[in-house]
Amino acid sequence: MAKKKKAKTNSCVKCSGLCCRYVALAIDPPEDRGDFDDIRWYLVHKGVSVFVDKKKWYLCVDKKCKYLSGKDYRCKIYAKRPRICRGHSSIDCELDKNDYDYDLHFTNDKQMEEYMKVKFDNNKRSKLTPPLQFPSLRQEN
Ligand code: SF4
Ligand code: SF4
Repeated sequence: MAKKKKAKTNSCVKCSGLCCRYVALAIDPPEDRGDFDDIRWYLVHKGVSVFVDKKKWYLCVDKKCKYLSGKDYRCKIYAKRPRICRGHSSIDCELDKNDYDYDLHFTNDKQMEEYMKVKFDNNKRSKLTPPLQFPSLRQEN
């Protein structure tokens, strides 16, 4: 808790609470074409992205926590915030700079189609633009 408060005087104070605007869950790494196509299904849904970090795959849902204050971007239930929030280190957080160095970040199904063409069809790669970012997480509100 002390570390969190200390960080609030640094990067958090200038941030609109980007770490409170999504849910990310680890998923099984895709192995075959069907697995990748299942991920494409995730990506046809608005607000859903999939990223790879340190060889682990995650499903990310862009959805703001209902306890994030719209006035000062602080937690309205700070004293009883969930364990995952408590475990999140704000020291050296780079999410506010939008420069997390993901291996891959798919934000829509078209990007996955392109990726699958390259991976499975030996197709020429068109413009897939890694490292992909978290643009939707930067929205105010
Ligand atoms: S994203 Fe990082 S800088 Fe922003 S509130 Fe969360 S921990 Fe602080
Ligand atoms: S409970 Fe508080 S710290 Fe946790 S995600 Fe919501 S606003 Fe952020």
